[in-house]
Amino acid sequence: MGYFRENIEKMAGYEPGFQPKDADAVKLNTNENPYPPSPKAIEAIKNITGEQLRRYPQPTADTFRETAAEILGVEAENIICVNGGDELLNMTIRAFCDEGRSVAYPTPTYSLCSVLAQIANCPAVEIPFDEEFNLPAKLASSGAALTIICNPNAPSGTFIPKEELSQLAEELKGKSIVLIDEAYVDFAEDNCLELIKKFDNVIILRTMSKGYSLAGLRFGFGIANEKIINGLNKVKDSYNVDAAAIAGATAAIEDQQYFKNNVKKIKIERKFLTEKLTELGFEVPASQTNFVFAKPLKMRAIDIYEKLKDRNIYVRYWAYPDIKDKLRITVGTGEQNEKLIRALKEILSEG
Ligand SMILES: *Cc1c(COP(=O)(O)O)cnc(C)c1O
Repeated sequence: MGYFRENIEKMAGYEPGFQPKDADAVKLNTNENPYPPSPKAIEAIKNITGEQLRRYPQPTADTFRETAAEILGVEAENIICVNGGDELLNMTIRAFCDEGRSVAYPTPTYSLCSVLAQIANCPAVEIPFDEEFNLPAKLASSGAALTIICNPNAPSGTFIPKEELSQLAEELKGKSIVLIDEAYVDFAEDNCLELIKKFDNVIILRTMSKGYSLAGLRFGFGIANEKIINGLNKVKDSYNVDAAAIAGATAAIEDQQYFKNNVKKIKIERKFLTEKLTELGFEVPASQTNFVFAKPLKMRAIDIYEKLKDRNIYVRYWAYPDIKDKLRITVGTGEQNEKLIRALKEILSEG
């Protein structure tokens, strides 16, 4: 018998996107925001005192909850703060799933879902999306205790209308928690926040990593009815978010004007990238995120990925059968996107 539990011995673990050390690299592989965070967030972190670090942080990050609640039009009691949205995914699996209680999600989606299921040793009911990434009807009858919908979805960048997720929540009432992972919602046309007022089984996941440019800070939050939040609080680590993260995240979410301006710039760049890639012979479905999921029609995705890497440009490629013909490309700054397009022109002309 090995030291590890059998499921841990057998599993591979989550594979994060490559982090090049070279500062000149064009890094379009992990959906970070290409613009810096709000100067007010940086200032707030700089102003952390020794006394604040000596003491434990306020365990539920109430200053953030109160600030975010006001901006979002919910109550502070509807919010739980987490050490990155990933922690909320982890907590919900711990809270709702075990060997006999499964998790269900459509695929392809965020690969962390299957990794967390393997760690928990809970069955994962994976239901493939159709070609258009519509909500699979079978999710309503999967028998899972937890249903995760990433919306907008990664890596497809597609969005399922709120009405359809409302319908799913209704069908799963009393049977399954519906966790809507809105990590990319800042770049989408709509969101599902209002569903937490109608349903006792809906949890919304949000993160400060993407729209607010704070991936390095590790701060996210869940929004749900108070009973769910209280239950999740039993599962969380006592001091899961640190003093610096609370201060930085609170200042960042307060600075809505800075945030909205960055989102606007990214949407403009997303349009540019989509048009240029289409001209170069990629199939690029409309994206509601800060990345595009592009299918090259003239060359293999893996070859383009490798040749971009040789030019110090990093995009994301997966060798999974259902997505191995596509590249996920983060929307960068205007300059980064131009560099990418120039490199792609060269690569495609060389063949
Ligand atoms: C980025 C992301 C998250 C949350 O990431 P954190 O950095 O941990 O907040 C959750 N789900 C998806 C699909 C993501 O891309």
